[in-house]
Amino acid sequence: MFGKILIANRGEIALRIQRACREMGIKTVAVHSVADTDAKYVRLADESVCIGPAPALESYLNVPALISAAEVTDAEAIHPGYGFLSENADFAEKVESSGFVFIGPRPETIRLMGDKVTAKKAMEEAGVPCVPGSNGVLPDDPKEILEIARSVGYPVIIKASGGGGGRGMKVVRTEATLINAVNMTRQEAKAAFGNDALYLEKYLEEPRHIEFQVLADSFRNAIWVGERDCSIQRRNQKLIEEAPAIGIPRKQIEKIGERCAEGCRKIGYRGAGTFEFLYEKGEFYFIEMNTRIQVEHPVTELISGVDLVQEQIRIAAGEKLRYRQKDIHLHGHAIECRINAEDPYSFIPSPGRITTLHSPGGPGVRVDSHVYPGYYVSPYYDSMIGKIITYGNSREQAIARMQTALMETVVEGISTNIPLHREMMVDPRYQEGGASIHYLEEKLSFNKQNRA
Ligand code: ADP
Repeated sequence: MFGKILIANRGEIALRIQRACREMGIKTVAVHSVADTDAKYVRLADESVCIGPAPALESYLNVPALISAAEVTDAEAIHPGYGFLSENADFAEKVESSGFVFIGPRPETIRLMGDKVTAKKAMEEAGVPCVPGSNGVLPDDPKEILEIARSVGYPVIIKASGGGGGRGMKVVRTEATLINAVNMTRQEAKAAFGNDALYLEKYLEEPRHIEFQVLADSFRNAIWVGERDCSIQRRNQKLIEEAPAIGIPRKQIEKIGERCAEGCRKIGYRGAGTFEFLYEKGEFYFIEMNTRIQVEHPVTELISGVDLVQEQIRIAAGEKLRYRQKDIHLHGHAIECRINAEDPYSFIPSPGRITTLHSPGGPGVRVDSHVYPGYYVSPYYDSMIGKIITYGNSREQAIARMQTALMETVVEGISTNIPLHREMMVDPRYQEGGASIHYLEEKLSFNKQNRA
């Protein structure tokens, strides 16, 4: 096992990884920007290194600074967390060529799965069901593009091969607007991702977002650790996640889970990962794979008892998976609310100092957060200040516990989206379960019209 790990991230996930390391007896190095110097988790780490000024480009995305921080502290491995450099194949390569272990998949795998066209191809070959579409990159010839869209059938969605973060996508409902939309998306993709390759797929109108957690070691052992329903989103940003996904036959879930594990074996996947699917009218359609730990990993941990971050570390250290598929038993239900420093309805970020903070507690309540009274929420980074996760024997109990937890929580000095979460937990459609990815936006625009 490693003696010391450098955590190339900040905020709640930096603290989460630190906790995993401490439990395993591994020393930690926190890297931080000037803006994060006084953060408590930085002080709690065994060592800390300042890697640059507040803007992420000069600190958390500064590869030479991160590598030299690992060198001066004699860290053996680097955990990238999520976001920042976690899915950057060049970074993973640089980490390994500098003599450190990257806690994640091989760089080739990150590259393969980071390009949505090659990812889809690889998964199709492994028997993972995908959204029907262009079977590869769109050609230049408008006539051929029209032909492809016609055979897929409208509406279609045009997506950038190198896209991410919900950008570089356009829905097209009629043939007359197709070529114009392709040209616009191409320009956007080139500017945003430096890659103008596009593909096209059938646009699903009312899908749910269901994803599968996988773990795979370096010896082609792979398992799936349940699924999550992450349909409560706004602008493709997840807000509430839960596990398991209700209202889908377990047999069908198991079949897809097995396919995901098989996909991992096929591409020699290593580490933790997530297969994202859209689910509509009883069918699953793969959209992409995330080759890292996810924000919503705790809901899976609560229903499976598996510590996903510790497993990532064990796999990176070259250990064999400690679990076989038959060892994975899912119990109860877990829900996560992402707490953001933002106006609950306009979603405008609300940086500033937290003057009062009271965290919830009690049975089945987990809080993953790096903030405390007096913490300054920086405008430079993501607005998420933590996650409240509740567990219950049933979904109803998990919801009831979340209602209590949200009622107990007090954050003053900044605005948060807690009022919206409180509203969602008593929303009849949410309570019924199985809402589509458009539900939250529909509800918000309905509320807005009613207020006006
Ligand atoms: P990104 O990497 O930018 O997150 P994804 O491919 O994961 O892109 O898609 C993000 C979101 O866009 C999905 O969660 C879904 O809401 C929507 N989306 C993507 N593909 C389709 C599709 N074929 N039909 C309907 N919605 C889609």
